Amino acid sequence: MRKSYLIPEFRVEIDHTRCRRCKRCIMNCSYEALSFSDRVVADHFKCVACHRCIVFCPENVITVRKNPVDFKESFNWTNRHRLDIWKQAETGGIPLTGMGNDLPYQIIWDHLVLDACQVTNPSIDPLREPMELRTYLGKKPDSLQFEETADGKIKLKEKPPKNIKLEMPVVFSPMSYGSISLNAHKAMAMTAKEMGIVMHTGEGGLHKDLYDYSDYMIVQCASGRFGVHAEYLKRGIAVDIKIGQGAKPGIGGHLPGEKVGLDISKTRMIPIGTDALSPAPHHDIYSIEDLRQLIYAIKEATNYKPVSVKIATVHNVAAIVSGIVRAGADIVYLDGFRGGTGASPKIVRDHVGIPLELALAAVDDRLREEGIRNQASIIAAGSIRSSADAIKAIALGADAVAIGTAALVAIGCRVCQTCHMGKCAWGIATQRPELARRLDPEIAAERLINMLKAWKFEIKEVLGSLGLNAIESLRGSRERLRGIGLDAQTLDILGVKPAGK
Ligand code: SF4
Ligand code: SF4
Repeated sequence: MRKSYLIPEFRVEIDHTRCRRCKRCIMNCSYEALSFSDRVVADHFKCVACHRCIVFCPENVITVRKNPVDFKESFNWTNRHRLDIWKQAETGGIPLTGMGNDLPYQIIWDHLVLDACQVTNPSIDPLREPMELRTYLGKKPDSLQFEETADGKIKLKEKPPKNIKLEMPVVFSPMSYGSISLNAHKAMAMTAKEMGIVMHTGEGGLHKDLYDYSDYMIVQCASGRFGVHAEYLKRGIAVDIKIGQGAKPGIGGHLPGEKVGLDISKTRMIPIGTDALSPAPHHDIYSIEDLRQLIYAIKEATNYKPVSVKIATVHNVAAIVSGIVRAGADIVYLDGFRGGTGASPKIVRDHVGIPLELALAAVDDRLREEGIRNQASIIAAGSIRSSADAIKAIALGADAVAIGTAALVAIGCRVCQTCHMGKCAWGIATQRPELARRLDPEIAAERLINMLKAWKFEIKEVLGSLGLNAIESLRGSRERLRGIGLDAQTLDILGVKPAGK
């Protein structure tokens, strides 16, 4: 056997003096990094730092740390570069990865701060005053026409377009049944119902067990058309056409055949064990006119439910979104280059696309300049990590944000970035029954609900400090933001002043 030049990324250390040899850590390690031979022994190469062993060790005697091996220092030849080259040299393949871009690009959210009320403009106490977070997603009419009925009452002349009602400006990102487990989907569906928000099915279709939650479900139509049929389209409260994904712009999807068991095969409408390949382009969309045709075909099929179009953020995103809105989309879903994924070539995830913050500001500007901002809502996605990110996104022009990784972290995800291996120790990004059942949907939903309740309180707290009592008043209000440590050009694109001005 040839010797591998790779070194383990992590080291698993066990305090054997306190270990009671119960083997719970071994049972919990789905990556087979732990085994028993007189005592628990670790294969450091296999550890991905999922932390499952640490959490379930009753004696708390396990430590996982970054392997402290020193490389000869180089600012240019980082360890990351060397390790990637060794992997390529040994496999000849493209390194795959899960979750979002982790390169140290500037995170603009962390360089934006919010204004607060002081003496002249009073703040509002959110514990005593009502705060409105309700948000409607979809086309808003240019103007309202009224007419008088025979009995002298005033009513709207035309029915306004259908909108999605959210009790807070947050939705769950599209994550397909296939990329994540059914229990993870169930947890999100239960949470969406409880919190009055919505989840996306992602491109994997809608499992029959979730039909009861379809009032809280945006169904997706991606290029592979998995699970797309008339009933599926009608069940959702909206339909999302997926053009692109932030973690892999211009790349199609691939669910390996080994993950396509009976349930997924039924839900996706593909044979058991076959790879589910969704091509990069939709083969019926090569222009804005083609997109328009599909949008209106879906509207016809669904009695004019809102249609959303999801794209990855790329440099000419504002012009693209203008076309999408003019093609009839009611919602535009912008997925930034830090968005998560089940599996992506590392090179694409880390180097293709542009930051959500800049794309969002550019899109909001363009739609306002063209006088069509009311024709579509914007959902901002791509690593929204906290309620602070959400609030700043709304001040930059988003109507709502979508959360994927943050939701998974709430239910146990350690962002170990090995979702593509299908061995998720937390039962999230896996289809192995023995792993998937580790995630109890009820407990996961409780955790998610708690997180969203906390975000709701936080959003209200910040609104109060800004002297606002409705999220609507913050939308696109960039005057309430200031930049710290951002260059003039970035501030210009964001439409935000530097702090101190
Ligand atoms: S779970 Fe903890 S106590 Fe049990 S065998 Fe593993 S290290 Fe020892
Ligand atoms: S979903 Fe599972 S495999 Fe993916 S990053 Fe989270 S813990 Fe790791």
